Amino acid sequence: MRPNVLSPLFASLTSLPGVGPKLEKLYARLFEREAPRVIDLLLHLPSGIIDRRARPKLNEVQPGQIITVAVTVEEHRPAPPHRARVPYRILTSDETGTLTLTFFHARKDYLEKLLPVGEMRYVSGTAEFYDGMLQMVHPDRVVNEKGFADLPLVEPVYPLTEGLALGNVRRAMEGAVARLRDLPEWQDAAWISRERFPGFADALRHLHRPVEPHNIAPEGLAWTRLAYDELLAGQLALALVRAHMRRQAGRGSASEGRLRARIMKALPYALTHSQQQAVNDIINDLALPQRMLRLLQGDVGSGKTVVALVAAASVIEAGRQAAFMAPTELLARQHLNTIAPLAEAAGLRVAILTGRERGPARKEILNRLVLGDIDLLIGTHALFQDDVAFHDLALAVVDEQHRFGVHQRLALTQKGDAVDVLVLTATPIPRTLVLTYFGDMDVSELREKPAGRQPIDTRTIPMSRLEEVEDAVGRALKASQRAYWVCPLVEDSEKIDLAAAEARYEDLRKRFGRNVDLVHGRMKGADKDAAMERFASGKTQLLVATTVIEVGVDVPEATIMVIEHAERFGLAQLHQLRGRVGRGTSHSTCLLLYKAPLGETAKARLAILRETEDGFRIAEEDLRLRGEGDVLGTRQSGTPGFHVARIEIHGKFLGAARDDAALILNRDPTLASPRGDALRHLLYLFGKDEAIKLIRAG
Ligand code: ADP
Ligand code: MG
Repeated sequence: MRPNVLSPLFASLTSLPGVGPKLEKLYARLFEREAPRVIDLLLHLPSGIIDRRARPKLNEVQPGQIITVAVTVEEHRPAPPHRARVPYRILTSDETGTLTLTFFHARKDYLEKLLPVGEMRYVSGTAEFYDGMLQMVHPDRVVNEKGFADLPLVEPVYPLTEGLALGNVRRAMEGAVARLRDLPEWQDAAWISRERFPGFADALRHLHRPVEPHNIAPEGLAWTRLAYDELLAGQLALALVRAHMRRQAGRGSASEGRLRARIMKALPYALTHSQQQAVNDIINDLALPQRMLRLLQGDVGSGKTVVALVAAASVIEAGRQAAFMAPTELLARQHLNTIAPLAEAAGLRVAILTGRERGPARKEILNRLVLGDIDLLIGTHALFQDDVAFHDLALAVVDEQHRFGVHQRLALTQKGDAVDVLVLTATPIPRTLVLTYFGDMDVSELREKPAGRQPIDTRTIPMSRLEEVEDAVGRALKASQRAYWVCPLVEDSEKIDLAAAEARYEDLRKRFGRNVDLVHGRMKGADKDAAMERFASGKTQLLVATTVIEVGVDVPEATIMVIEHAERFGLAQLHQLRGRVGRGTSHSTCLLLYKAPLGETAKARLAILRETEDGFRIAEEDLRLRGEGDVLGTRQSGTPGFHVARIEIHGKFLGAARDDAALILNRDPTLASPRGDALRHLLYLFGKDEAIKLIRAG
């Protein structure tokens, strides 16, 4: 049960002043969650400040500076009648000079009340010279002596979304901050005093009502306190999940390797050394009576799928079942396509379950599954819906893990008895991040590429040379090669992105004719598959795509990758996209089109891609250059999965948070002590309360 003191923070945002259903929708988009709550707003931290502390005399004002000045109102000069475009001017002065306040579309009665002639007012805004006179157009603030006492001279600025004004957020935030109550301290007292951290509520107050600019710095005490809270909540949740998993004794799935051998025989290639090593690790784990929690980390194209299949074959040989969960429909189908011929050769019964299997077809799959007539079920998150039941699930393979939450992972592993877990990740994740996302998993790494791969020729080209790029693509198409053309996320709006991709598609189709195709995220699943299929089989040669092809798509014949507005992508994302080519034995090219001019950082980033194909190096460099949201390619700023913590700044606390979590659960495994109780508050605040349910009673 959620502690009662938290209830005001978990109320709907619409309970705050000025937030109605319309604004709620905008906040939902901003926070990427339905039905946003007060706590979501409180954890939406400022991105900057407006500093109104400069208080010059009028003869000292620097144009363009934000100032707050005390002036006496001298005279109102309304626009002449019927000349609505002429502004309403108000002349003011102090003992050193004059300032004209200018208002467009002004209401006379309103301004007369706001700025009565002969009285003193404080006005704040940006002053400029116009016709040699100092003037301020639409001051941000006009207050009297009494109002000045309450005027915040340092105002936070927040990340916004289209349609949501800063004033809206500030007003709602005032209401939210007013609801804050002091909460029991969940951090270790000695640690808090050593780091000089404020309490949780105070930290939020400092951040949303800053007095000095440094109050809102991510490196500052308030932000760092909250970041540490978030890291600790994450590590505690991971530790609870782990404790829960390890508590259920595993079951060994010993096998002689008969099925495995058949799969190997059906493979048109030999496993690389590191694939073989990973297979050995996994088979060892599976045979042991403990649960396996293993991360298989391997750069794009390193061949993780076949390793997963061999793992599945081992438990299947022991008479049990395996599930293979992919993040998208497209990928699930592709896994099926890769696996089906091998599975057939080895005599495995494979099926797929996604959102598209419905009605009788779905029923039939579920029936066969529960009877044990399906050995390996491939699918999307449809796999962990409530009515999906296995006969005896032994192994869950989860691809592209960081897109799934902890509880989704859990939901799948709860569909069997002591299910072993193998997580595949194609995104090369720097070491520090592995800990954040996966905690203490065992790790196998695929460090080498399959033999015969050719280096990809990567070039950066300004958009102004689009014509030449099209010519080059044209030559390649004539030589029967295949090419991807990726259009970027330009705006925050899917509609506009789509329009850009469609326009490019029309363009290229005009030029190259019918063997150009288009695939994007808004298409129906079946249409997407069909387009991919046409491209894979060579019916079409040029595939224009939005980033739906980002993960995992495997068409070895594709040799050209064109990426428009490459400067807008995260490096890891570019690396993933580039990894779609260079999969066969022919020479491949990646053309990164950018809009000139590029800034220094952008230049350096693209240069890294030209220099190396080592995903690990790219990820580390990207982390260094930009901070980590882009490493995972999911967000423009911040660390995915976190609201407050930024790994490049707060990552140094990760080890401490992990040790802290281990120590806490060691002493108080059921969070029953007073500190344990306080920590439950923490878990709720950061949305990790699912983990509380895993605490063994008593
Ligand atoms: P990823 O690790 O990105 O998921 P895939 O599993 O999709 O990579 O494999 C990429 C491509 O490499 C596939 O076409 C696969 O058939 C091929 N492949 C995998 N292992 C080897 C190998 N040892 N030798 C040659 N090709 C391989
Ligand atoms: Mg893959």
